[in-house]
Amino acid sequence: MMRAMFLQAAALCVLAAVAPTAVAQTRWPNGAKATVVLTYDDALASQLDHVVPALDAEGFKGTFFLANVQQAHVDRWRKVAAGGHELGNHTVFHACSKTSYPADPRYVSEAYTPASMLREIEQQNVLLHALDGRQSHGMATPCGQSLAGGADYLDDLRRARLVTYVRGVVDTPDDARANVAKVDPMHIPARGFGEGATAEKMIAYVREAEQGGGWAVFLFHGVGGDYLAVPDAEHRKFVAWLAAHRGEVWVTTLQGALDWAKAHP
Ligand SMILES: [Zn+2]
Repeated sequence: MMRAMFLQAAALCVLAAVAPTAVAQTRWPNGAKATVVLTYDDALASQLDHVVPALDAEGFKGTFFLANVQQAHVDRWRKVAAGGHELGNHTVFHACSKTSYPADPRYVSEAYTPASMLREIEQQNVLLHALDGRQSHGMATPCGQSLAGGADYLDDLRRARLVTYVRGVVDTPDDARANVAKVDPMHIPARGFGEGATAEKMIAYVREAEQGGGWAVFLFHGVGGDYLAVPDAEHRKFVAWLAAHRGEVWVTTLQGALDWAKAHP
């Protein structure tokens, strides 16, 4: 009897030790095991051509971070916003470090100061407002970098309240089991999918989040075109899988996930 009780107690201890990472951290709507956020950077034509129709066909809403917006696409982006997708700030000119890729020297982050970068982010908010009529927007840092003239501008950006959140380009295993209400909005994780990405790999990321009760924030660039491109067929296969698993996975915008988590801590 004593031995049985001891074993039971030991088993409970093991459970207790495992529990903090095994239980659902955020109460997602309709008992969903995890939330999936689909984000697309750089205002690319292949997103308008392939992503928006694929998401619309299933009623899913994505998050599109716009930079270097082409005049010819203004009406299309306006329709994307009217369709319920989220438009986010990715700065006007997408300045990254000059070591990232060859760029006009006036539009590398070394040529900026934190103040001039914030000014640019504020200006991009004006374009976003003209496109979607919204007063506030989230942001993704170009290249996942938050340096201007060598200084990190995130604290200035947080104080200025110009954006509601800042998404980066990396995630950790802990993010899949995050209590999303407690995530620092200035450091939103994301996992990038590019050339060679398969629907299978994308689904595996969702499974990680399901096991952790957290979220999976996807980062895409081109889809079936442009650069860092995921094949359109693989992206469609993944969207079809999400549609077939609506009961267990909630697909929403990044702002939508953050707002829900905050309202249901
Ligand atoms: Zn970008």
